[in-house]
Amino acid sequence: VVENETQAAIVRSLCRAGVPLSRQRLGSELRLGRNTLGAELRRLAELGLVEEGDAEPSNGGRPSRRVRIPRDAGLIAALDIGGSSIDVAVTTLTSEVIAAASAPSLLADGPETVLSRAYTLVDELLDEHGLGADAIRAVGVGVPGPVWEQAGDTFSPPAPSRWDGYPIRAAVAERFSTPTFVDNDANVMAIGEHLRGAGRGVDDFLFVKLGMGIGAGIVSGGRLVRGAVGGAGELGHVVVEPGSDVVCPCGNAGCLQAFVGGPGLARAAEAAADDGSSPELRAIREQKQAPLEPADLAAAATAADPAALAIVRAAGRRFGSALAATVSLLNPALIVLGGGIVGLGDTFLAEIRTTVYRQSLPLATRNLPIVRTELGAGVGVIGASAAAAQHALFSVPTYDRTSA
Ligand SMILES: [Zn+2]
Repeated sequence: VVENETQAAIVRSLCRAGVPLSRQRLGSELRLGRNTLGAELRRLAELGLVEEGDAEPSNGGRPSRRVRIPRDAGLIAALDIGGSSIDVAVTTLTSEVIAAASAPSLLADGPETVLSRAYTLVDELLDEHGLGADAIRAVGVGVPGPVWEQAGDTFSPPAPSRWDGYPIRAAVAERFSTPTFVDNDANVMAIGEHLRGAGRGVDDFLFVKLGMGIGAGIVSGGRLVRGAVGGAGELGHVVVEPGSDVVCPCGNAGCLQAFVGGPGLARAAEAAADDGSSPELRAIREQKQAPLEPADLAAAATAADPAALAIVRAAGRRFGSALAATVSLLNPALIVLGGGIVGLGDTFLAEIRTTVYRQSLPLATRNLPIVRTELGAGVGVIGASAAAAQHALFSVPTYDRTSA
């Protein structure tokens, strides 16, 4: 698509920025002389990948014209595959969501079934917007577990399953005939938050996803920390209750996510409805005629139900305690929380903050904001799109996938 590494670097910089950049800024960022930059920009304009924007406000000198990626330069399909649902989006090359859709889907159904559902959702979105499949120039995928690059980007969910060893990147790349990037969902979300959310300009931060499972994307010195086999940041499997009889899908007992992940919270809510300690949760269950979910717990806590509030506070303390250990280890400048469980509300967040500030080294928490994602429920697809633009689209074979 592009003709050389200089052109690729220009397009990546513009995707990364997401806003028009002046020629001056591009030139200094990429260390390109005015003539070289001008020639490559002309060529990229002919290829339809950049266009002239407005002039940068002048501060005395000659105004520098800004360049940007045209909206019709191509699209990215972003797939956020979760434990119980799939979110997909079609975005511009700068991660602006054009259309999005979700569907329930169990990870345990296996790769062929889950991926074919995701493909159908993408096809429907393209149809609805009168777009052809050839408009997709890259695909980004987030999956709920470690991704091992050396094994051909295979993904290992915590419990043994048919995903083990499945060549997910190769399969998706073949289906769309495009460059494809696959990584752990928390890593992909950290990339999205770094480029488009609360992590902009912050080179040391943690993104923690709290959903069915719990995982962290670690950005340190501006780089994503992936670990030896892609398993860094598996915070959900830190044992917080040794000797507990609550078994996690990973096989260990007492893992953090067995208590603070979606199924753990639902179990606690059910117990409080069963034993009558929460009249509110019992009423909600009777009304919906279905098992309780974390959202019901949030509703009962908002209604000031004491048992529901106690569950939410205990979850915040447990999670905060594990996070405090991470803070002492990594000394991040910012912690961003995303995923459905963050919807438990302000009490949950307040309990997390108090616990982290109390249990970490004072030096590490002197200035440590703990905030919700700025990208909302779209953080997974925006992150997958941004990661695809940085690491798959227009990349050269030696791309460095650690840069966040
Ligand atoms: Zn576990």
